[in-house]
Amino acid sequence: MGKVYIVGAGPGDSELISVRGKRLVENCDVLIYDRLISDDIIMSAGKDCEKIYVGKENGGHSIRQEKINKIIIDKARQGHIVVRLKGGDPFVFGRGGEEVLALMESNIDFEVVPGITSAIAVPEIGGIPVTHRGISQDIHIVTGHTAETEITDYEALARTKGTIVFLMAAHSIGSIAERLMEYGMDPKTPVAAIERGGAADERIIRTDLKNIRYERIKPPAVIVVGKTAEFDMVSESKRKTVAITGTEDFRNRLKAKLLKKDYIVKEACRLETVPNDIDIDIDTDEYDWLVFTGRNGVRIFFDYIKNRKKDLRNLKNKIAVIGQGTYDALAEYGIYADYMPPVYTSEELGKGLNNIAENESKLILRAENGSEEIYKYIKNYREVKLYSTKAEYITQCAEDYIVFGSSLGVNTYLDRYDIKDSTGIIAIGEVTCKALRTRGYDAYCCKSPTVEDIVEAIDRYEKIKTIENK
Ligand code: SAH
Repeated sequence: MGKVYIVGAGPGDSELISVRGKRLVENCDVLIYDRLISDDIIMSAGKDCEKIYVGKENGGHSIRQEKINKIIIDKARQGHIVVRLKGGDPFVFGRGGEEVLALMESNIDFEVVPGITSAIAVPEIGGIPVTHRGISQDIHIVTGHTAETEITDYEALARTKGTIVFLMAAHSIGSIAERLMEYGMDPKTPVAAIERGGAADERIIRTDLKNIRYERIKPPAVIVVGKTAEFDMVSESKRKTVAITGTEDFRNRLKAKLLKKDYIVKEACRLETVPNDIDIDIDTDEYDWLVFTGRNGVRIFFDYIKNRKKDLRNLKNKIAVIGQGTYDALAEYGIYADYMPPVYTSEELGKGLNNIAENESKLILRAENGSEEIYKYIKNYREVKLYSTKAEYITQCAEDYIVFGSSLGVNTYLDRYDIKDSTGIIAIGEVTCKALRTRGYDAYCCKSPTVEDIVEAIDRYEKIKTIENK
């Protein structure tokens, strides 16, 4: 018999899940999840993990609770470790309690892992404390779903001096406000509605009880009624979202640097490197030079050497690399490149090699769909296309910045989605920049194709924007 963990995922932002929750997601066999849960959390589950979406179907209705219970129970009975992931906290309007009861009835081992509830966190992210000494000494968390029924005691609520937090009330808040006023609540009571709290396109509407019905509020939203709704404790430097595109190695290195600066990082497009089936025997002895045009090529070439059980001591060639990243990747094998162009582009690599070794023979080890610029100058060569790059996953991100690590990333993403005018676009180099221009987008082109330069470009962008806004 397996076990079920009912885990709270927190509100929106993928970093607001508990450490325990994250570890359970990363290690479970089956992940059963709802709407409003960040893609990054879902993607952090293992490759072999079975992921089952049980949220609302497009525009339609939710899957019935009994059906969800049955899926959870069946998976646990099959002996799996199941994570049932729910937005916010599982026991705050999450129907987590019903799932627990069903598990108890079926004698299935379970645990509940708390989450950060949107009822408190979303106002907080919007700059509103739900309690404040001397102003609000109690919080009432209320669902707007039952607005038309008599379950909630609005008469009592109307008398409170504390804070009322409404969930699921985007459409019903107008009539709720009417009722509260009927029971005597001051029409001037401040109201704040926070849509998509924590997301890059978060919106806060501030008004009062009398006027809230004129606002069109889009779910998901948390609506705060009470004196604290007037507070605006948001720091000026709100975190910015950077969407990244590229291969795993590139994404990981860039992500680490961006997280260090506290940017929110979203993976907008994942490209996967797939080794080509190289059926020829690459005889490195025939060449004076081996030429690497990127890190992934280095890794895949050495995998090839290893798989064919070739001995590294036979590699007597001189080696040229496109730039520092590739130099470093090679250095990890204890090999130090003999040539690297002063500017890290494939055109410069071709030019440089032609200058120093025009007549020597070269073997170019590269990607199938990589840049062709190297061939402008280089002579006396043969090429082996070691691998190709394919799109593995694409999603649209509401981002402040988007970084493109290759023209393939540009084309893959733009075939599917547009980029907003307000988004800062960063291209790793000239070729990528050109691909963006062809599709009608202006981008900042990094001087050197390193993750350091990309982060610096974003920092610089941020500074310019701050000055413009002042
Ligand atoms: N268990 C969840 C609540 C589920 S009910 C929790 O503890 O947070 C779903 C409601 O939560 C939505 O209708 C909305 O009112 C609120 N909500 C969840 N995420 C939100 C977000 N990022 N921004 C605004 N409201 C959110």
